[in-house]
Amino acid sequence: MTVYLVGAGPGDPGLLTRRGAELLGRAEVVLFDRLVDPRVLELAPGTALRVDVGKRPGQARHQDEVNALILEHARQGKTVVRLKGGDPFVFGRGGEEAEALMAAGVTFEVVPGVTSAFAAPAAAGIPVTHRGLSSSVTVVSGHVGDPGGPRAVDWPSLAHAGGTLVVLMGMANRAEIARRLVAAGRSPDTPVAVVHRGTAPTQASVRTTLAGLAEVDLGPPCTIVIGPVAGLDLRVVREGPLTGIKVVVTRARAQASELVTHLVDAGAAVIELPVIAIDDPGDGGSALRAEASRAAAYDWVVFTSSNAAQRFLGLLGDVRELGAARLAVVGTATARSLAAHRLVADLVPDQETGEGLVSAMPDAPRGGQGRVLFPRAEHVRDVVAPGLRSKGWEVTEVEAYRTVPATVGRDFGAGELDDVAGADVITFTSPSTVKYYADLAGDRRPPPVVACIGPVTADAARRAGFAVAVVAVEPSAEGLVSALCAHIASA
Ligand code: SAH
Repeated sequence: MTVYLVGAGPGDPGLLTRRGAELLGRAEVVLFDRLVDPRVLELAPGTALRVDVGKRPGQARHQDEVNALILEHARQGKTVVRLKGGDPFVFGRGGEEAEALMAAGVTFEVVPGVTSAFAAPAAAGIPVTHRGLSSSVTVVSGHVGDPGGPRAVDWPSLAHAGGTLVVLMGMANRAEIARRLVAAGRSPDTPVAVVHRGTAPTQASVRTTLAGLAEVDLGPPCTIVIGPVAGLDLRVVREGPLTGIKVVVTRARAQASELVTHLVDAGAAVIELPVIAIDDPGDGGSALRAEASRAAAYDWVVFTSSNAAQRFLGLLGDVRELGAARLAVVGTATARSLAAHRLVADLVPDQETGEGLVSAMPDAPRGGQGRVLFPRAEHVRDVVAPGLRSKGWEVTEVEAYRTVPATVGRDFGAGELDDVAGADVITFTSPSTVKYYADLAGDRRPPPVVACIGPVTADAARRAGFAVAVVAVEPSAEGLVSALCAHIASA
């Protein structure tokens, strides 16, 4: 039994350490703080127990309770990851948790993290030290407390020390902090930057001075940077057609990367809200395995999604098990998943829809006997199988995967949904993303621009009451992004 005190980094999941990711990947229990990004939590196995030990204002869970919870799970012999925002030993009370573990004789390892104290300023273009401007940096808690008390921050000394002051947890007391620093001699014109959710797609920052700090109105979490370096802005923003635009991706995480990459390349800030997840079929995949093992008995295998293609082809031990069966796909994106198995589709319709696929398929040979295998999602529109049957084919449909709401194993916080509602664009890549987003969003309005991957998804969005602004001409991640870029350019 080992407990890992892991720093989750400031927000961007890319800033988690490799060691942290590896440990999360084999965690049995994850005890996490409120500030931990959900995308980091998703690195834990689906079967891991996730416990939110976050301290929310007003309903603070006592640190003793948290310590007891860590020990309780550790004593059950579990691999426990205690996941803390930023670095575990920077104002995270990680030190106290380590002391409790030591006292109980439990082995533990500390995995440092990228602290928001330095990452949030950096993400806003501020180096906390800079030759000629600041040769020291002090990280301080903004809980002012009783000015004469033993744990009070000595603001006058900090004012005299000069250099850069980075204040965490300081927003509630910002007016008082500014007042004490100025009273102790720092100029009211000293540059100040307040960085909200540094490194996250929803990052926001305000530049001001000590005199203006009290007026800054940004919600938690914020890092306050005080000193001449706060006047610097060392960033070159990636210029693209979507620069400055926040785009929500609702696609299942496993499929989202291509869309996210195209959006980021175009300059967008991407907010991922994977409302669906891809799961095994209801029978655990036994029917799909059986069909894969007799694939050579079919004349055609037809795929209308990359998921189905990947799951089916992944079951083949050797692609030659396909025998002479030909492969038809609904579009170029699905054709690319074949390419990953070094297979080339025999048929890709010009019109990339189920209807297009049916009309591009040949008629079954006269005299019957033409057999088609159609591995597909649990629920599909009744288009391909009936269409092929009317062309004389004997069609075997087999369930390759299911689309399930992602709320299974993951909670969406109100804050996360508010961020999404505050974005500029939301993308939908299937009718199920529309349905589950609408279920989650409740009465929140979607972002102003609704962009859909194709006509079927667009219809689903309209039925859900959304005004659809963008429908991709080519139904693929790339097609969606280029249609969106065209829309933004014209708007
Ligand atoms: N251990 C954490 C800090 C915990 S104290 C770390 O090393 O980052 C929590 C405070 O950190 C918040 O009140 C806020 O001041 C700051 N903070 C955490 N994440 C932040 C972020 N993404 N952007 C700006 N400040 C952040």
